[in-house]
Amino acid sequence: AKYVYRFSEGGKDQRDLLGGKGANLAEMTKIGLPVPPGFTISTEACRAYMEKGRVPPELRVEVTMALREIEDRIGRRLGDFHEPLLVSVRSGARFSMPGMMDTVLNVGLNDASVRGLAEFSGDERFAWDSYRRLVQMFGSTVLDVDGAHFAAALEEKKRQAGAATDVDLTVAHLQDLVEAFKGLVREQSGREFPQHPREQLDLAIEAVFGSWNTDRARLYRRRERIPNDLGTAVNVVAMVFGNLGETSGTGVAFTRDPSTGHSGAYGDYLPNAQGEDVVAGIRNTLALAELEQLDPTSYRELVQAMRRLETHYRDLCDIEFTIERGKLWLLQTRVGKRTAGAAFRVATQLVDENLITMDEAIARVTGAQLSQLLFPQFDADADRDLLTKGMAASPGAAVGEIVLDNAQALQRTAAGVDVILVRRETNPDDLQGMIAATGILTARGGKTSHAAVVARGMGKTAVVGAEEVSVDIGAQEVRINGTKLQPGDVIALDGTTGEVFLGRVPVVDSPVMRYVAEGVHAGLEACAGDDDMRELVLAVDRILTHADEVRRMSVRANCDTATAARQARERGAEGIGLCRTEHQFLGDRRGHIERLVLASTDKERAEALAALLPLQRADFIELLEAMDGLPTTIRLIDPPLHEFLPDLTELAVTVALANERGETGEDAARDAALLTEVRRMHEQNPMLGMRGVRLGLKVPGLFALQIRAVAEAMVERRRAGGDPRPEIMVPLVGSVREMQIVRDEAEEVLDEVCRSSGELLEPPIGCMIELPRAALTAHRIAEEADFFSFGTNDLTQTTWGFSRDDVEGAFFADYLENGVLTISPFETIDGDGVGALVVAGVTAGRHTKPRLHIGVCGEHGGDPESIHFFHRAGLDYVSCSPFRVPVARLEAGRAAV
Ligand code: ADP
Ligand code: MG
Ligand code: MG
Repeated sequence: AKYVYRFSEGGKDQRDLLGGKGANLAEMTKIGLPVPPGFTISTEACRAYMEKGRVPPELRVEVTMALREIEDRIGRRLGDFHEPLLVSVRSGARFSMPGMMDTVLNVGLNDASVRGLAEFSGDERFAWDSYRRLVQMFGSTVLDVDGAHFAAALEEKKRQAGAATDVDLTVAHLQDLVEAFKGLVREQSGREFPQHPREQLDLAIEAVFGSWNTDRARLYRRRERIPNDLGTAVNVVAMVFGNLGETSGTGVAFTRDPSTGHSGAYGDYLPNAQGEDVVAGIRNTLALAELEQLDPTSYRELVQAMRRLETHYRDLCDIEFTIERGKLWLLQTRVGKRTAGAAFRVATQLVDENLITMDEAIARVTGAQLSQLLFPQFDADADRDLLTKGMAASPGAAVGEIVLDNAQALQRTAAGVDVILVRRETNPDDLQGMIAATGILTARGGKTSHAAVVARGMGKTAVVGAEEVSVDIGAQEVRINGTKLQPGDVIALDGTTGEVFLGRVPVVDSPVMRYVAEGVHAGLEACAGDDDMRELVLAVDRILTHADEVRRMSVRANCDTATAARQARERGAEGIGLCRTEHQFLGDRRGHIERLVLASTDKERAEALAALLPLQRADFIELLEAMDGLPTTIRLIDPPLHEFLPDLTELAVTVALANERGETGEDAARDAALLTEVRRMHEQNPMLGMRGVRLGLKVPGLFALQIRAVAEAMVERRRAGGDPRPEIMVPLVGSVREMQIVRDEAEEVLDEVCRSSGELLEPPIGCMIELPRAALTAHRIAEEADFFSFGTNDLTQTTWGFSRDDVEGAFFADYLENGVLTISPFETIDGDGVGALVVAGVTAGRHTKPRLHIGVCGEHGGDPESIHFFHRAGLDYVSCSPFRVPVARLEAGRAAV
């Protein structure tokens, strides 16, 4: 095997083999940018190391050959006593991964070569500063000495020397420090700091390999869903020095502003410093513009290099660079991270510059970014008082009174007040409070903590792990950075940035939301004079429009009412994928259901149903009007009937009280009869009980009523000149026979209405596929169904045997922590399990009916990753909540390019 690649041999598309850093260093070398000579040890070598538990012997040979080439090119040898070559050893996996060993600089320095370096550079202080850094970095990253020891020794030295920053330390101080650091290495690791340059290099390489498998790295990969067997590459790069006095320095730069996308050079520069100083924040950096004054030649060269990179990568790049005595070197580049708004702006700017196509532009943004832009925001013009910042766990802007427990949360929300639940951390006992709250703030825990998972599941704003927050339940007090707060005090959470503010911050609709809901004109109007925002609204419009053009799947919405349907339509929905009819039985109409349940004769039952007919018909007329011309999938009643009846315990109490008082009136008799029925219908597992099609078969006339209401509504709409397109959907089907019975009943009703109205009515009759058995027998069910719609919520519940309402708060956080789950299967479809059933159902259904129309309704229809899955599975549409429609349009487009 070949393990070592010169920078001149690789390229940007080899990230699997060379890691991100290595691939881009090679690419920059290839296009002639000034990169110090170096080579990359491939991820394959790391995999060989993991397999054998030792470095493959050929690797040592290949490293020697590549190293000698560098030495010959530069004319200096690694760790030479006179003119030493030094190198950096840098890890770099396919994905950037905190938790792994990062970088050791100045490898090759020892007690002798440090003097050589001093003489050859003419800067003794620089040489000792570099040596001090090597012992420190090598000690902490390669030999596992706790870095705090070195930091403490450095602080102590600065204090003794009266030095404000480490630049003020003299040669003598640095020499003392090197000795102290070597002592620390000896004490803490039980071995001497290795003096031999090649031994330093080999140990550093091995340490990078080893760091792939530390607990921290494994945990990180599990959370980010990065496979464990990729391995990391190692980059060995000739050192260039930013710490060689005032004509040297180091910095980071972006080719465009990563928050607005505007082109120009953005970044930070630190004179007389080595790489890690910039990010470590030990001294204040200068804005990149100031480099133009300090060193115009290098600045110009840097700006040119950035233009090359943008042209080459056709994207915003970020860069690490170092200037050594007026000579510019590039040490890293990658396609830069950016804010959601910048992602849209940059994508369309690049299209306008003819650097990318619109197809590429939609691939450069994500549905997650779009949904960030849709959340309400704090009014940017309002005064805000920042208390602290935590992790942005669940987006949105929430304002409310502080509450510290469930009782307070329930009490205040009952009084109509918005509350923010503040906890050290949350656990399943806090669920009630979390449900009541508008926002959740915790002091502990990360993005997969209980609070974060549950909040995202419920769509609540949450900021977690805000470490400066301390909650004292005993004293009923929250302290944040010296501010003392009590229950009742108002705070505001920004779940998109993690910021926590004191007091009430006004919330406004984002202009992007206004655009999505009301069109370009309204969106632009909402921007007022904000040009960046206007540019963003126009960018989102262009990208969404293009996504609509290229997507294969259509996007429908889940709407139960005409109002929701109109909203969905405005947002671009092309139909309703799921109208739940159960809400039509709530409120005043409960009485009809009670009568239906209590009916003892066919006549009584028929009367109860007849009373419901005009009500249902009116609902459907409204809905079909709102969705005129578009498919409108109406699901027959799904939940168990007792959900519409009084609560068992409450009713039992009422009846008992009535008995005690000796009441014998009509009401008392009805309550008593109802209680008997409620008792009879009580179920241990309602989710798996008398619901869906089972209910329709059990209660004669119930489905027929709904179907008649649909048919009559169709007639009515047609007579009004409309184009109603209802589709009738049967829930919870598990067997073709169930479908057959319902279908026969439906056709009978439809025939009747056809005859009496003289209209031809043939609405498609299909079913939900939401039980594993339905997916597995889909070839049979398709014989009786005109369409399928995957109900992936129930399908997930029944495939995993999870009851969603019970498990999410109870143990999902544990399951995410220990790696059973990488994400909630109710959030993103579990491709391996539930997804396999979807694929099986599609294949089997289309085996029977090649053109069977198939969609998905349920939360997954609005989840980006799931949408890509459904595209691949060959579905015709996804249906999601009206709010998610724009996100689904974008992702369906992205899935198609
Ligand atoms: P990270 O992935 O944490 O950024 P890097 O490997 O990029 O780690 O290195 C850390 C710092 O050291 C960066 O600022 C980088 O520019 C600098 N650096 C790395 N190699 C060299 C080198 N050969 N010469 C000078 N500076 C270097
Ligand atoms: Mg870097
Ligand atoms: Mg269902």
